[in-house]
Amino acid sequence: MLELQSTNSPFNQEQAELLNRLLPSLTDTQRIWLSGFLTAIGGSASAGANPAASAVSQPAAAAPAVAREATVLYGSQTGNSHKLATKLSKKLTDQGVQTTLSSMSDFKVNGLKKVQDLFIVVSTHGEGEPPDNAIAFYEFLHSKRAPQLDDLRFSVLALGDTSYEFFCQTGKDFDKKLEELGGKRLVPRIDCDVDFDEAATEWIAQVSGALRESASAGAGVATAGAAAPAAGAAAEESEYSRSNPFQAEILENLNLNGRGSDRETRHVEISLEGSHLQYEPGDSLGVIPQNDPELVDQLIAAMDWRADELVTVSKSGEERGLRDALLNHYEISTLTKPLLTAIEALTSNADLCDLLAPGGEQELKEYMNGRDLLDLVQDFKMKGIPAEPFVTLLRKIPARLYSISSSPRANPDEVHITVRAVRYESHGRARKGVASVHLAERVESGDKLPVFIQQNTSFKLPENPDAPIIMIGPGTGVAPFRSFIADREETGASGKSWLFYGDQHFSTDFLYQIEWQRWLKDGALTKMDVAFSRDTDQKVYVQHRMLEKSGELFRWLQEGAHVYVCGDEKKMAHDVHQALLSIIEKEGNMSSEQAAEYVASMQQQKRYQRDVY
Ligand code: NAP
Repeated sequence: MLELQSTNSPFNQEQAELLNRLLPSLTDTQRIWLSGFLTAIGGSASAGANPAASAVSQPAAAAPAVAREATVLYGSQTGNSHKLATKLSKKLTDQGVQTTLSSMSDFKVNGLKKVQDLFIVVSTHGEGEPPDNAIAFYEFLHSKRAPQLDDLRFSVLALGDTSYEFFCQTGKDFDKKLEELGGKRLVPRIDCDVDFDEAATEWIAQVSGALRESASAGAGVATAGAAAPAAGAAAEESEYSRSNPFQAEILENLNLNGRGSDRETRHVEISLEGSHLQYEPGDSLGVIPQNDPELVDQLIAAMDWRADELVTVSKSGEERGLRDALLNHYEISTLTKPLLTAIEALTSNADLCDLLAPGGEQELKEYMNGRDLLDLVQDFKMKGIPAEPFVTLLRKIPARLYSISSSPRANPDEVHITVRAVRYESHGRARKGVASVHLAERVESGDKLPVFIQQNTSFKLPENPDAPIIMIGPGTGVAPFRSFIADREETGASGKSWLFYGDQHFSTDFLYQIEWQRWLKDGALTKMDVAFSRDTDQKVYVQHRMLEKSGELFRWLQEGAHVYVCGDEKKMAHDVHQALLSIIEKEGNMSSEQAAEYVASMQQQKRYQRDVY
């Protein structure tokens, strides 16, 4: 290190000697901290103005005002965690914290020990499982290989849905594990329900505040000026988003199923003109639905409420007529344990109290399954409870996400979705899917629909246009593949493509049949195998077709094909996964462990992507 002297620096002899004693004893972290401190108290001009002072000034040039580095990791299925992690990362960067943002699947676990401040944003999938791109990191942390993390500070933002039993389980698991490994919680975990904006914003503010506080406690000063967001930060935020949806015009709304089908699948074309909303194949469209007016009226009647009574719909105190609020603002179709608990606290209903009693979890689950708010107020005789305190316990109506079935290059300023109307009978009453039946029954061309774009970076066409793609999408799971092929046709991508598609009947349920046939003829789609499950005595599903073509499918994999699965998670995605494993095992002469490793490595290379729920 350069020696300071009174002749080559602005310091007198005594100061130079003190500094020469001190500086070599400092660790890197201490030096960075000190330079941040000097920058903060003296203005940046004080450091670096004199080249001879480089021993002090060098780190300051690149140093953040806060010495510790932050790592923000996300595990995302639909893109929400990614988006929030990006928001946090940007905020920390703007306040001078050196921040690394990464998907959990891209994070090198052998670097974990060096991480100082770790912030995790993760959703929970299915029955309490981590999303696909979090699995490897989750398993590593829960394995014997996980290192002791005594120097780590951390916090977790967990995304979930209170209507699921294992609400935010993955976030809770990460939070617990990091503590067990020795980490210190910088701010408490926040668990978010489907309407996550407010809670997530609060967590981001808490993390940013805690880092600023700990930096200033260490430095004795605030990180002056660093907290202001960088210029352009606000401009980058899209004008239209989940919390500020675009009122988009419906251009077309058609039923794709033929007469005689017991299914109804809507192809909805929506104008994005004037919104500046952008999307890529693989992204989803968020739709804010409206509740069924008939159900709303039945609820109002069952409670003896007045439809025009004013009720509060937001924390800011905004008021709306009760019918409007129940139609457009509150969720009335799902029962959750937190909701029932809050209603019990409000009403002191003895029967509801019994249902919620400890030990009765199974009974509670059975009661909530397939029932809605109307069932609850009727079954527990709640007529007469005033509207205002009751409805403010309800969740905000959650947006529904639909895989986009158009390409922005083929249909500029438009977005298409493919939505199956959900109708079924439960507990003696006909039930309707909130958003799907809203789209099927009450949305016509010319109407407006509040929408936003939900990016999904985990479901994307290969960057290399020559790479082969294999797409597996039965039912409405075929939606994103219409987008993929329409896009590849527009860009002239030369990679081979192979679609496995299935539904119940060839004659009535073959979604987009004419388009697939045209694409096959033109070469935009190379191969297509179909499985119509109810046209033959024995059920045939997409995975049966995959197994029939196992040799060729394995050759495509060996050539670097990317595999995409979209549709039902519970059964189809699992069965397709098993089929893929057995194809690799058989055709690659591998053990089941080797086949599993083969698939894991495809996942690591982003060559096996799923959009399933
Ligand atoms: P569906 O009910 O999945 O039916 C499509 C076809 O799949 C039918 O022929 C059905 O046969 C068959 N099938 C049933 N079990 C199967 C299994 N274990 N393996 C393979 N195929 C099987 O179609 P849908 O009504 O369009 O529903 C699609 C599902 O995908 C829904 O759960 C929807 O929520 C989801 N989805 C997810 C996304 C996404 O994650 N982005 C996008 C679109 C749709 P049978 O009926 O004859 O048994």
